[in-house]
Amino acid sequence: MTDEQTPTTFEQLGLRPELLATLTSLGYEVPTPIQEKTIPVLIEGRDLIGQAQTGTGKTAAFALPILQQLDAADRSTQALVLAPTRELAMQVAEAFHSYARGLGPISVLPVYGGAPIQLQLRHLERGAQIVVGTPGRLIDHLERGTLKLASVRTVVLDEADEMLRMGFIDDVEMILSKVAAPRQTALFSATMPQPIQRIAARHLLDPVRIEVEHKTMAAPAIEQRFLNVAEPQKLDVLVRILELE
Ligand code: AMP
Repeated sequence: MTDEQTPTTFEQLGLRPELLATLTSLGYEVPTPIQEKTIPVLIEGRDLIGQAQTGTGKTAAFALPILQQLDAADRSTQALVLAPTRELAMQVAEAFHSYARGLGPISVLPVYGGAPIQLQLRHLERGAQIVVGTPGRLIDHLERGTLKLASVRTVVLDEADEMLRMGFIDDVEMILSKVAAPRQTALFSATMPQPIQRIAARHLLDPVRIEVEHKTMAAPAIEQRFLNVAEPQKLDVLVRILELE
């Protein structure tokens, strides 16, 4: 939020009417703080370091500018998002799909290890305009020559500190070194340990730094709790909780 009385609108951030209509239909009324700060910077084409956690609305903060800049008629891969886990890759790809609704057929492909590679190969052959993947599987596709980065204009590192923690940092660097300039690079991370700062220094060009506090959550009304249970008991326990609550 700004200091002004009226909150910033998505329209003021410069998004296309098709995207604005979709956001309204999704029930997004105003941008979250990270969206308010990030969207104009990315639309402008600048590199960015965003210190933000999950739950702040960071996915839309990078997905909307990517969709805004996408050339729908060009079937080649124009944006690449690196994510630490299969779950996050799927979730981010899903978010792209829902935000792209008003833009016609936009192809978004999640690629991650553990899933049959044949399906991903066929999809890549047909052309995936946005690829969201885990570093290991992305490198696999690069080595096979099935993923081509020549048309990539934007690269996003999502949850960079998690990729570091999981030992993917060399893979991340290798992928970054294969995307030619000029390109736009956005790095999101909840924390900024040394190796992440080094990546930023080496691979980002004069980045704008944006920080949002954890308390600026997109969904403050949602209370989260967890319970440790053995895998086989998960369903039973869940059913009991639903009955009780
Ligand atoms: P994220 O931090 O990207 O995982 O987003 C957290 C949740 O907030 C997701 O369920 C989004 O659909 C939702 N969200 C993101 N931006 C907005 C917004 N401007 N208004 C309402 N909900 C939002």
